[in-house]
Amino acid sequence: MTSAIDQPRVSLPGDVRMPMVGFGTWQLRGSRAYDAVREALDVGYRHLDTATMYGNEAEVGRAIRDSGVPREDVFVTTKLPPERAGQERRTIAESLAALETDYVDLWLIHWPPPSERASLASWRELLAVRDEGAARAVGVSNYGTGQLDALVEATGEAPAVNQIRWGPALHDPGRLDEHRERGVVLEGYSPLKTTDLTDPVLGEIARKYRVTPGQVVLRWHLDHGVVVIPKSGTPSRIRENFDLFGFTLTEDELSQLDAMGR
Ligand code: NAP
Repeated sequence: MTSAIDQPRVSLPGDVRMPMVGFGTWQLRGSRAYDAVREALDVGYRHLDTATMYGNEAEVGRAIRDSGVPREDVFVTTKLPPERAGQERRTIAESLAALETDYVDLWLIHWPPPSERASLASWRELLAVRDEGAARAVGVSNYGTGQLDALVEATGEAPAVNQIRWGPALHDPGRLDEHRERGVVLEGYSPLKTTDLTDPVLGEIARKYRVTPGQVVLRWHLDHGVVVIPKSGTPSRIRENFDLFGFTLTEDELSQLDAMGR
């Protein structure tokens, strides 16, 4: 098992290093959220993905504190619900209080607000919050390329990250390039839910490396340079989903997986 220190990371502006495998926490509430995050930190994950909307920031914060892992060794993302546009300061203050921390590593606009004007106003607030130190990096989620460009045109600052639905069946090399060209890190969510884990191509590759189809899917993200944040409330799967560093996919295997959605 890879140690917490050795895991691959990607650089965000401001000298922020983001671990490429994070732990998703959507739909984990109460003690299930606390126990799962404790397990994830024990296994070696050092990147946790939460959101105001998930209603579990307090459990995530308590799990970090009780784990004994120093706060600065954990990359924490939370997200602004767009209906809180106009209340950005209050929302980040509430997130920090719940997470028991002075800063988050990444703060995202959870999905685009209803108008470009509202999106831009929130983006300016996120940049200000970053400049004041409450978020080390800021970005967006569920944005299209045109919506990213509108933020850059208005402020000269690209989001550090765009967190979007991603997986082999959604493979879109053009969209991946658009992110790279703009210096925006693509972070994929719902990697397992968007994949048919019984697909024979996945099964064959999994047998070759003696791993599971789920692990092949997660490794596919890493081999494309995409950050991935699988969620599980099951201890064995929490472990399995972080055990990705003992194999890499060949170019031919990547191409076979890229074609899953066609
Ligand atoms: P996911 O991680 O693709 O899939 C989670 C589901 O897969 C759970 O039902 C889990 O079951 C199961 N699972 C986990 N590991 C597995 C494995 N190795 N083999 C087979 N099944 C496995 O889906 P997600 O939770 O939608 O996405 C991941 C994270 O992305 C979320 O938790 C959240 O942090 C983030 N997200 C963000 C947005 C956004 O709008 N920004 C939207 C959706 C998700 P068990 O829990 O029972 O093990």
